[in-house]
Amino acid sequence: MKQPIFTLENGSVRYGHGHPDAVSDVTVRLYPGEILGLVGESGCGKSTTARAMLGLVPLSAGRLTLHGTPVNPHDRRLRAAVQAIFQNPAASFNPRRSLLDSVAEPLRVHGQGTARQRRERALEELDRVGVTAQMAARRPNEVSGGQCQRAAIARATILRPEVLVCDEPVSALDVSIQAQILELLAELRTEQGLAMLFISHDLGVVASLCDRTAVMYAGRMVEQGAATEIAGNPRHPYSVALQDAVPSLDLSDGLAPRIRTRTGADDVDGRLLPGCRFAALCPSATPECTAAAPVLAELAPRHEVACHHPFDPAP
Ligand code: ADP
Ligand code: MG
Repeated sequence: MKQPIFTLENGSVRYGHGHPDAVSDVTVRLYPGEILGLVGESGCGKSTTARAMLGLVPLSAGRLTLHGTPVNPHDRRLRAAVQAIFQNPAASFNPRRSLLDSVAEPLRVHGQGTARQRRERALEELDRVGVTAQMAARRPNEVSGGQCQRAAIARATILRPEVLVCDEPVSALDVSIQAQILELLAELRTEQGLAMLFISHDLGVVASLCDRTAVMYAGRMVEQGAATEIAGNPRHPYSVALQDAVPSLDLSDGLAPRIRTRTGADDVDGRLLPGCRFAALCPSATPECTAAAPVLAELAPRHEVACHHPFDPAP
């Protein structure tokens, strides 16, 4: 496999002293032109992982690398190479400015072109994502959520980044609009060779869009592999439980209580207990599981699982 374009290596994040790690020793590698899905129930640390990769929250351990070289979260190279879209696009736009102005803004910040040239470029970029000039003249609250997310994509891609971090970009949209935005993201990957981290709690969406899938549970990475493998042949008991929850799919509140996030619940004096965080809920757990945390290990080529007793698909 090629060298990853962008990585988070053994990253940990905590929101203040005395808190347990929100994410703990998480590694994410993005390869050129691939879409990596990141799944797991609400609160497991997906957004924290995204924020860490965007340099928006500091790492308490670990590092970021860009093209194989360590990169500081405040480095301008990171800003230029890695852009993001979020669940609620309107929140990241100035409500008093037109979509066009907001999409042209990154060009102005980077001192590119004249005002007129920037407008032209922004209109082009908006047209490419399916926003007409007429729509572009409107303010965020005057267009639909789908139009607004398209404009957010235009703003994120106008400086031609190499990586797009997408944190639940379709979760707030109607299903029919979701499909259009997913199609647009797939096109961008093909046309621009953009690598993407695509966060979702919808396994169906991830299976249809992504090349690889990473599964998080309670702040840790528990499984990574080809999207088809994770969907069809999950090996971590938690991933198996996630698959069983399909087709209810909405893991934010649709899951049975037996697979709720355990972050914090296993606290002793503010420290997490050793061992697997899924152990208390896992049908396969043994004393070994509460004694020592399993680390990600390759079970099959490019299929990594952090489990002492991976699910055995054999008859
Ligand atoms: P996800 O995106 O998977 O739902 P998050 O990354 O938002 O999960 O949250 C991971 C953990 O970090 C949760 O326990 C959450 O309560 C906690 N957390 C997230 N953001 C903050 C914050 N700004 N301050 C304190 N704790 C936070
Ligand atoms: Mg989130």
